[in-house]
Formats: sequence, C-alpha cells, structure tokens
Amino acid sequence: MIIGVPKEIKVHEYRVGMVPASVCEAVAHGHKVYVESNAGVGIGFSDQDYIEAGAQILSTAEAVFAESDMIVKVKEPQAKECRMLRDGQLLFTYLHLAPDPEQTHALMESKAICIAYETVTDEHGRLPLLAPMSEVAGRMSIQAGAFSLEKSRGGSGMLLGGVPGVEPANVVIIGGGVVGANAAQIAVGMRANVVVLDRNIDVLRQLDNQFAGKVRCVYSTQDAIEKHVLEADLVIGGVLVAGAAAPKLVTAEMVRMMKPGSAIVDVAIDQGGCVETSHPTTHSDPTYIVDNVVHYCVANMPGAVARTSTFALNNVTLPYILTLADKGYKAALKEDKYLMKGLNVYQGKITCEQVSMALNLPY
Ligand code: NAD
Repeated sequence: MIIGVPKEIKVHEYRVGMVPASVCEAVAHGHKVYVESNAGVGIGFSDQDYIEAGAQILSTAEAVFAESDMIVKVKEPQAKECRMLRDGQLLFTYLHLAPDPEQTHALMESKAICIAYETVTDEHGRLPLLAPMSEVAGRMSIQAGAFSLEKSRGGSGMLLGGVPGVEPANVVIIGGGVVGANAAQIAVGMRANVVVLDRNIDVLRQLDNQFAGKVRCVYSTQDAIEKHVLEADLVIGGVLVAGAAAPKLVTAEMVRMMKPGSAIVDVAIDQGGCVETSHPTTHSDPTYIVDNVVHYCVANMPGAVARTSTFALNNVTLPYILTLADKGYKAALKEDKYLMKGLNVYQGKITCEQVSMALNLPY
C-alpha cells in the first residue's frame, strides 16, 4: 500500500502522523511511504531523517494526497485537506466529527473511508488511541500546577515537594482515571501530599494498590470534594463522564474559600471543565486568576509537548496503520470489531452512531 503523511496545517500543530521509526516499520512490511517536505521539522525530524527511514519526500500536500492510498495524520483534516481526499481513499486520524458538521459534510462529499482514532475501542471498551494524550495531559498537569504556584504567575510561592524541614504542598486530584493516575504518579514523584477522589470504587482500589499508601484514595462526594479542595494548594480536575459535559464539581463558592495563591489545573476543560470558574485558555496565555486562585485551563495540553505526544501517539497507532496497510481496510475492519468502531464515514455515509445522532444525519 502507499501511505501518505502530510504536514499538519492546523495553527500551532507540530505533531506528525508518522515518526521516522514508524515509516521504517511500514517500509519493512513492504509499503511505500510518501512524506510531505518539512512534515516533522517542528519536532526535530528533518526530511533527511525520513529519507534514511525509507520514505520518499514530496514537496506539496497535494502530491501526497494524490499519490497515496492511505493518509495518516494527527488532527482532523482542514477544509483544504478535505478537498484533496478522493473516492475510496483511506483516512486515519483524529476527527471529532460530532461537534463539526462542516467537516463531516466535506468528508462525506469526498467519498473517502475515514477512520477516527478517538472512536477505536479495545476489548474492555476503553479508547486506546485517546489514552496516550490523557497520559501526557495528566503528567503535564502537575508541571503546569507547579508553574502556576510560582509567585510570578500569581501563586502562593510554594514548591510542590517542599524541602527538608518545610511542608510539601497538598495536591488534590479529582478523577482517578488515566489523567488522574498519571498526575498522581508525578505528584508523588515530586514528594507532594496527594489525595485522589473518584466515585468508582474499583478505580480507588487500583490506585490504592498501585501507590501502596503514598496516595490517599477518597470516595468522591460533594462533601469530600469541598473538604479536600479547601485544604489544597493545587487542584487537578480530571473527571470524565463518557459522552457528557464534565460535571461542575468545584463550585465558585468553593473557589472563593480556597487558600489565596492556590492553583487549579482543569484538564477536563475540553469537556467544559469540572470547576465552575474555569474557561478555556491557550498555551500563549495559559493562566488567569479568580478570587486569588490561579486557573490553568488549556484545552490542548499535549500540543505543548508535541515531540513526546507524537511518539506516544505513534506507539499506539502504528499497529493499526500496519494492519490496515497489510490487510487492506476491508479485511482489517471485518476482522477487528474494535477497529470497526473507528469507522466514522464510509464513501459518503455516516457509519458512527454518535456522529449521526449528534448531527442528525442518517446512519
Ligand atoms: P478516564 O475515563 O480515564 O477517567 C475519568 C475518571 O473520572 C473516571 O475514573 C471516573 O470514575 C471519574 N469520575 C467521574 N465522575 C466523577 C466524580 N463525580 N467525582 C470523581 N471522579 C469522577 O478519563 P481521562 O482519560 O482521565 O480524561 C479525563 C478528562 O481529561 C477528560 O475530560 C478528557 O477529555 C480530558 N483531557 C484533556 C486534555 C487537555 O489537553 N486538556 C488532554 C487529555 C484528556
């Protein structure tokens, strides 16, 4: 199969669909890979790195789209890219179609076969191609929180781990899933006092085992949230209720009563946020202050660490890229009902129930 990797064109997007090591694997499987010139330059991969991995460099996105059977990307195709897709061509990338009727219609018109990373599932019903971005955001949340506690950002001037003879900070993590567990790991590593709240008792059991007493695992009730938030120096919001907007678990009243100079990193902001005073921010201006509490609410946290995020994404997408290329999409989808969940648009038709319901389109 011929695989094409165009340069991402969304503003401030430096990730790339395939790193040179992934190209090397695909070539070893007998496939041809075309990479657009400078596709990986934002994260340190030169055209020469791709050539050494076995790719051929094409100078334009138009050429990559025209010459390839399967396009591998990171972000949803922009209008210009949708127009370059053709009947029967395979697209494998994040799509997030439910809130995006314009892109959905453009993909339907292209007659391409579009598989979305975010709806591929595994045998446990998890989302394996989304999890690495939650791992990145969870680990980064503590870094962002530590930065927000510095005096220059309006924070209390507290070092998360303290020093010998000085108390460490209290880190309260709401939601103990992928984001929460990764945040806890870094916070424990930095020697903070860590509490995780979750309402799934199995999640609490697992974290209790994993951290062997280094993290306090608390059942999440409104009362428990209030108690711990008021004692916190740093609150991490990492809740998710699948398919729904994040519940507002930390109220504006609680924020008003928090310690002056404390900080909130609301990772769940991409689902509306779990703190009443949160609103989305960007990497160029990531924090703002409400009632003396520093808020960090960047909706695309992994974008700031594009190099790590690209590797993390490639680690999970590569096996699917190889399967689709080796077997062809028809056999690959037929043999793997979890990969089939990723099929969102098939030659002009919507094939994902959630997308059809959200956009009121036939399924
Ligand atoms: P997850 O499903 O692995 O974990 C969510 C956890 O929240 C679950 O354990 C669930 O039991 C818990 N939860 C639900 N309701 C709760 C409540 N009332 N109190 C306490 N816990 C509750 O999800 P995840 O992958 O960890 O993602 C968490 C959030 O982070 C999602 O909204 C996701 O979209 C977001 N996210 C944001 C970024 C970003 O850049 N801002 C990046 C990745 C993920």
